[in-house]
Amino acid sequence: MQEQVDAAGTSGDAPETVLAGLRAVHASGRTRTLEWRRRQLRGLERLLVERETEIAAALEADLGRPAFDAWFGDIVSTQGEIAHALRHLRSWMRPRRRGLPLVQLPGSARIQYEPLGVVLVIGPWNYPVYLSLGPLVAALAAGNCAVVKPSELAPATSALLARLLPRYVDPEAVVVVEGDGAVTQELLAQGFDHALFTGGTEIGRKIMAGAAATLTPVTLELGGKSPVVVAPDADLGVVARRVAWVKLMNSGQTCIAPDYVLVDRSVRDDLVRELRTAFEELGAERRDGLPIVNERQLDRLVAGLVATSGEVVMGGGADRARTTLEPTIVLEPGADESLMREEIFGPVLPVVSYGSVEEAVARVNAGDKPLALYVFSASRRWAEDVVAAVPAGGAVINHVAMHCLVPSLPFGGVGASGMGAYHGEWGFQALSHRKSVLVKPMRPDLRILYPPYDAKARALLRRLL
Ligand code: NAD
Repeated sequence: MQEQVDAAGTSGDAPETVLAGLRAVHASGRTRTLEWRRRQLRGLERLLVERETEIAAALEADLGRPAFDAWFGDIVSTQGEIAHALRHLRSWMRPRRRGLPLVQLPGSARIQYEPLGVVLVIGPWNYPVYLSLGPLVAALAAGNCAVVKPSELAPATSALLARLLPRYVDPEAVVVVEGDGAVTQELLAQGFDHALFTGGTEIGRKIMAGAAATLTPVTLELGGKSPVVVAPDADLGVVARRVAWVKLMNSGQTCIAPDYVLVDRSVRDDLVRELRTAFEELGAERRDGLPIVNERQLDRLVAGLVATSGEVVMGGGADRARTTLEPTIVLEPGADESLMREEIFGPVLPVVSYGSVEEAVARVNAGDKPLALYVFSASRRWAEDVVAAVPAGGAVINHVAMHCLVPSLPFGGVGASGMGAYHGEWGFQALSHRKSVLVKPMRPDLRILYPPYDAKARALLRRLL
């Protein structure tokens, strides 16, 4: 455990006091060393191992999440990021030599990675540990101090992080501030060296607006409608199991959950049959409905189902008293209704048929650029063509969502689904400054390079430069 010191700023202090404390710690230089960074990452690693039961209990209280899902969604995912960073940090931190144009010789050039300073991490409620600590891994690996602002919609997890983090990482360098959007804006108004936000696209706009006043750079990890495009030759049983598995996870409240399915008309009914079977088998433990985070979100999902012109072929039952919704399949909803315009973020799966792959691609590209694109086909060429034709944050061929667990891949959106990326080295780079350093010797010091330039000097310089 870290030595307990009286932090200059703690969670209860005013934002300016918290910031002043963190800035002083950063200015002391102690967060820059490989050793300090590793100690913080190992602290996070220990937190997850030693407090797994408390974390699972908080997630159960906030989201009704079963302990195994807590382990899969929040714990092992974060551990993967930490282990990868610990393994590679030394090489990430190494300066990178760069070549020089002839005219700049003699000399040497390098890029050196430096901490940005104090980073603000703003977390969502849906994976409140992974999406607060994952960005913190990047911030600490890059040698920064950080304020972590977990979501107020997962209050037990937020309180747990506030209580535990100072015991496992340098309490003077990482401060948890609890609160809602107003608290977040107050923090942003102080000005940070970077803000990494995970949440909805609309709030993302407000974060960017709040950050603009102090020119705080932002990474925005947003949401959107991630489509699944299914070719007629795909193994429909596998498609259904993989899609249903991730759609049921956290009741579909996952940023990279498959949002809707586009399937070749010739196999639509076969796929729907397989999807029903998969939902029934994989969702057997929660046959009475899946927990939705709050009534407002449940009402939004139910309103989408009431308004749909599609056919509800499975589920649809909501229980307002228990805030649950059955796994639901909606066949052929209209392109203009809310189910097909807004991110679903719940256990509702629209299935829409297409006549040609061009039609499917045009349909996806008519909306905002998705956070993720999933393509299922027995033909690699067919799948690659769809991947190339659809701009999306990331893509997976023949599975869904798993790219998020590959720390060597940058994770982030594009367009309305996000700005910037993190995970692994990409997170280290996003939260480091790439300082360009050119080193020149004192000699030679060619007189010809300085004015006044005579005709001979001008001719030579024109040739050289
Ligand atoms: P949200 O945008 O409502 O809230 C996220 C955070 O923003 C919270 O900490 C909240 O306190 C804060 N916030 C709320 N209003 C604010 C305001 N006006 N100003 C400043 N901060 C404010 O998101 P959510 O409901 O917690 O999460 C769901 C959304 O997040 C979905 O759209 C989902 O797709 C997206 N998401 C994206 C990723 C990703 O990695 N790209 C991961 C998970 C969730």
